[in-house]
Amino acid sequence: VAEETPRSSFGKATPAVVEALRAACGPAHVITSAEERRPYGKDETEDLWFDPEVVVRPRTTAEVSAVMRVATEHRVPVTPRAGGTGLSGGALPVRGGIVLSIDRMNAILEIDRENLVAVVEPGVVTQKLQEACEAVGLYYPPDPASRGSCTLGGNVAENAGGPHAAKYGVTKDFVLGLEAVLPDGGVVRPGGKLLKNRTGYSLAQLLVGSEGTLAIVTKIWLKLIPLPRVRRCMLVPFPSLESAAAGVSRIYRAGLYPSALEFMERNAIRFASEHLRIPVPGGDAEALLLLEFDGNREDAVEADLERAGEVCLEAGGIDCLLPDGPTKQEDLWKVRRAIGEAVKKTSVYKEEDTVVPRAALPALVRGVKEICGKAGISVVCYGHAGDGNLHCNVLRMDMDEKAWNERLPGVVEEIFRLTVSLGGMISGEHGIGWSQRRYLPLALPPEEIAAMRAIKRAFDPLGILNPDKMLPE
Ligand SMILES: Cc1cc2nc3c(=O)[nH]c(=O)nc-3n(C[C@H](O)[C@H](O)[C@H](O)COP(=O)(O)OP(=O)(O)OC[C@H]3O[C@@H](n4cnc5c(N)ncnc54)[C@H](O)[C@@H]3O)c2cc1C
Repeated sequence: VAEETPRSSFGKATPAVVEALRAACGPAHVITSAEERRPYGKDETEDLWFDPEVVVRPRTTAEVSAVMRVATEHRVPVTPRAGGTGLSGGALPVRGGIVLSIDRMNAILEIDRENLVAVVEPGVVTQKLQEACEAVGLYYPPDPASRGSCTLGGNVAENAGGPHAAKYGVTKDFVLGLEAVLPDGGVVRPGGKLLKNRTGYSLAQLLVGSEGTLAIVTKIWLKLIPLPRVRRCMLVPFPSLESAAAGVSRIYRAGLYPSALEFMERNAIRFASEHLRIPVPGGDAEALLLLEFDGNREDAVEADLERAGEVCLEAGGIDCLLPDGPTKQEDLWKVRRAIGEAVKKTSVYKEEDTVVPRAALPALVRGVKEICGKAGISVVCYGHAGDGNLHCNVLRMDMDEKAWNERLPGVVEEIFRLTVSLGGMISGEHGIGWSQRRYLPLALPPEEIAAMRAIKRAFDPLGILNPDKMLPE
């Protein structure tokens, strides 16, 4: 297989292919009409849209396997799709072909309270599993801000993070095992309920974060932990972006370990609070930190919060605002989770998902503002500061389209070069997908990209599974 499969070498979703897909999944679950196909051509990445030739919605692993056998036989490209909330275009059918939606594979199969393991199908919405766990005193921490609409399959494919990754880690830290269908229709089941497993290569971990380019995940074994009984938040306004960013590493240096530590600049909060009509105190400051501590003892959590407040004030924080009661806390989280959507409503934008070592955050924030300022482009920054993960949303606002198209690529490249120069990477959690693949060589040396291409070829010699994703042309 050449580095990139030429467009002409793929087959089309001919009537024979569609017939075979109907036989595989049942006629009701094969979508061919242009109108019904339409929503499957986009995700949440900018305003990109590609028309799939056909959409299939299998219900079982055997059906997924049958679809892949048809695709292999006819060399038709297949794009796996879950909740469609991705921000790097991973679920876009950029080569047409088949969109394989796992939305019907949405059962929570088991919550094993003795082994603290959940077994789920990939189409389960993340928040649904979290609520089912909480109902029995257990906790599944990875919580992308999109948790109400993204799925566990999509989270595995993207190795999703979220605010609570600051203490608990990202999706990979909770995946114990997977069942997955390979491009030729074969099925693998690495891992399971084992908390340790050193038997052969860690195939399950290789598939986590592979963005649907190596295999289609059909079942997931996830580690659970006991639900912390106490959770407290604090909002700290800062006079400048840099002082807020510098406050982050001071909190860790003081021996504190928050369960969440989010950074939001003024406009990010303003857009979201106006969008939801939920007022946020301290919203006039240049930037805010949202801190959360959790645990089982009220006094211990309160003591951490108090100490964190002192550290933030020493770092230049203006005030320590404590929301009174769970409702107000939940309001703060609602506003935080709505920032992405609110930014999207405000302007055409391009989101960069930079990540740097935590202590480099002030330099990153300063540099991003300088780069965008020089280009006369607006940018709004927010993100999971506890992980050093800063989302930089470059906004078009009222700039004319020509100037935007001319200046944007240079700005994105400069932001990525700065990120890498600070020891960072060009995606912390949203993945490379379609929209960032051309920037991969800025971050990774040729040897690493070559090793990744070899892995792709080993799993998918025909190159039919999610082509043109992640690896550069
Ligand atoms: C408002 C908003 C907030 C967000 N906040 C966060 C956040 O805090 N943290 C974070 O990490 N992300 C965040 N995201 C990004 C997005 O929600 C995550 O990447 C999420 O994991 C995508 O899940 P999904 O089910 O929507 O997958 P999709 O978008 O449908 O697909 C994502 C990728 O997974 C592949 N895929 C889907 N299902 C499978 C499968 N069964 N097997 C193999 N591959 C598959 C697709 O081909 C694609 O490459 C946010 C997005 C939005 C819109």
